[in-house]
Formats: sequence, structure tokens, C-alpha cells
Amino acid sequence: MLDLRAHLRPAVSHRDSNRKRIILAIMIKPDTQAGIARRTILSQATVSTAVRDLEKDGIVRMERNSAAQGKGGRGVRVCLQGAVNVAVGVDLGFNHVTVIARRVDEQYDRVKVQQSTDGANRGLAHVIPLVKGMIEEAVAETGRTSDDIISVGIAVPRMIDPRSGTFAAPVLPPWSGEGGDPAIELARALGVRVVMDNDANLGALAEQTYGGSDHLETVVYVKASTGIGSGLIVGGNLLRGRSGIAGELGHLTMDPHGVICQCGGRGCLETIIGAEYLIDQVRKSQLGNSADLPGSLAALIAKAHANDAVCVRALQDAGRLLGRALAQLCNLFNPDVIVLGGQLAAAKDLVLKPCREALERFALSGAVDPSTDFELRLSNLKQRAEALGALVLGLSSILSDEEIEKS
Ligand SMILES: [Zn+2]
Repeated sequence: MLDLRAHLRPAVSHRDSNRKRIILAIMIKPDTQAGIARRTILSQATVSTAVRDLEKDGIVRMERNSAAQGKGGRGVRVCLQGAVNVAVGVDLGFNHVTVIARRVDEQYDRVKVQQSTDGANRGLAHVIPLVKGMIEEAVAETGRTSDDIISVGIAVPRMIDPRSGTFAAPVLPPWSGEGGDPAIELARALGVRVVMDNDANLGALAEQTYGGSDHLETVVYVKASTGIGSGLIVGGNLLRGRSGIAGELGHLTMDPHGVICQCGGRGCLETIIGAEYLIDQVRKSQLGNSADLPGSLAALIAKAHANDAVCVRALQDAGRLLGRALAQLCNLFNPDVIVLGGQLAAAKDLVLKPCREALERFALSGAVDPSTDFELRLSNLKQRAEALGALVLGLSSILSDEEIEKS
């Protein structure tokens, strides 16, 4: 069976380079030729010629796609012929790990998923062998082995310097104490290169690639779990900023007299709507009554959906506060869409409705007017956006490897 690594070696000619970009784009997502041209920024004529050659060489095949037809696409998608390679995406949260493995010759929604409720809070020495084991399981479920892994991307709830691909200062706990870098540790354990980025950035990348936002210029993805972050797509590209701090929504000051945040600031958004804070609020409301208190955000949300008045209130207030923060972002970036992801998104309308009301109250009305097609919605990537984005990052990095070699 075809091993695409042979076709992804550093390009020696312009033609090779275009061909490689097109193969990578199809590995990330089978697409129409027009879609591939848009995503690779190549002309339709170049894509058409290259696809014809790739088809002749037995690397790609054409597939009728009824969904694309409905949306005005040409209806014919370019897919890979059978290939041995598997791409991996890891979402390494504080209290969870999600691993996704996908055979690159399969449809992008046919993924194998492994999940754990252990996370970075347990320390790298514990979590790296855990992640390695989860990757091996997920890859085995695709019918392949670890030798077939072509790329690994990892999403972490921390700021990552886009130049070095390592933690940006200030490095916050739990990473600061150990001095370990999960990408380097995991690469050592697997024997494969691993690339890393901020989880909210990768959530935005997944929404742009798989969430139906691929024609949109300006996309805001909010990851609201233990920490609060956002990924910003501006002009079709991920905005990382000079040192990877762009989109740190969780550290917007909401109350200068509020509690001290782990970043050293005071009254950051994260200190009023982060998971720990919401759980703590509910606990404090139960004076002298310690029975049946939620121990996790998921439990809190489940209680709210069962009409627990305190949990409902905590989530609605969180939605309102998030909306107030996002209103500032709307005035600054005027997004086409804001997508709410992370564990808090499971609260659905309990958070979304007050969030929308606050947006309408605090943002410039033109920025959030639904009649202009502005949309605030939940992620439809089933809480896998960050891991899917990590998978896209891993595959995309194969191309940037070449740029590094050339420079
Ligand atoms: Zn902060």
C-alpha cells in the first residue's frame, strides 16, 4: 500500500512543491478542486493539472459528493487512494486528554477517539506514557501501527511562541514547575516529530477546516473549560501575535478589584467563569449542606439541565460575563462568526442565550446584527475541535518542515 511519505520529501522543483501542497491539503480534507485551490492559494489551472497527474500516478481518485453538490460545489471531490499513513491529534487539557487518529485516505469525520479524565494536572511523568498508550490504541483501531504515524500535533491550554513552538512567557502551572515540554517528551516517547500550539488556536483551525467556516474571513473560537481562551482567524489565517499571546481572552480584566489570577493579574475573565470558579461558586452557595455537590463542570452542567436553580444561575451568569468580554472582541475584530467550544459549550442555551443578550447589549449593534449574517453558535465538532485542530497542525507542519530546510 502507498506510503505518502515518499511523495512528501523536500520538493526539488516548483511543480513538486505544488504537488506536495495539494497532497497535504487532501490529507487534511478531501475537497473539490475549487476548494483545494482556495485552501492552497494555487490557481485552479495549477490544481487541475496537478490533480490529473496525481490521478494518473494512482495517488488520488475522484469521488461523487452529494453534500458538495447541494452547497453549489462541483460535486466531485478529490480523495486519496489507499494509503498506509495515519495522522494523530492530541488535546492535552488540565483534566482530560483526547486523542484522535485518522487514516489520511479516509473521510475526515471517520476518526478513532481515545479519551481520559487524567490530564496535565497529574504531571508530565504520568501523562506522557498515558498519551503514548492512547495514541497506540487509537492508531491500532484504524487498522494501522505506530510505524504508520505520519504526523502528531498537540493542543495545550497555554500560550505557545509561534517561532519556537514552545511555551511563551510567562509559563504558568502546571508546566512551569517541571520545566518539561510535552511536544519534546512525546516525540521522544514515540520517535515521531510532534508539533504543539495553543488549544483555542487549534480549535479555531478545526472550525475553519471542518466546521463549515472555510469561506469566512474572520472567525473567533472560544474554548471555555478550566481556562478560557480564544483562537482568532483573521483574513483567513490564524492570528498568533508576536509571541503567541493573541486571543488570550481569559486574561481580559473584567474587575480590577476581583480575585488574583494565576497570571498575576486581578479579576481576569478566567477567575469569574473558569470551571474551578463556577464549581466553587456552587459549593459556597450550599451553606452547611455538603451533599451532592458537583465535582466537575460536566456534573454542574448536568445538574443545571436537571433544573438545579443554583447551577442554572452560575451558568447563566457565566454566559452573560462571557458575552460582555466577547462584545469587546466584536468591536475590535468584527467577526463573521463566534463559535463556542470547550466543556462550557455543553451547557448549550443556558450559556448561549445570556451570552447573546450581553453581546447585543455591549457590542456595537452593527457588529452583532444577525441580519448581517453574524452568527454566535456552538461548535458542532463534539468537543473534539482542539484535537482535530492538532491533527491539522501536525499535517500542515510537514509543509513548513520544507520551508525550514530551504531557509
Ligand atoms: Zn489572568
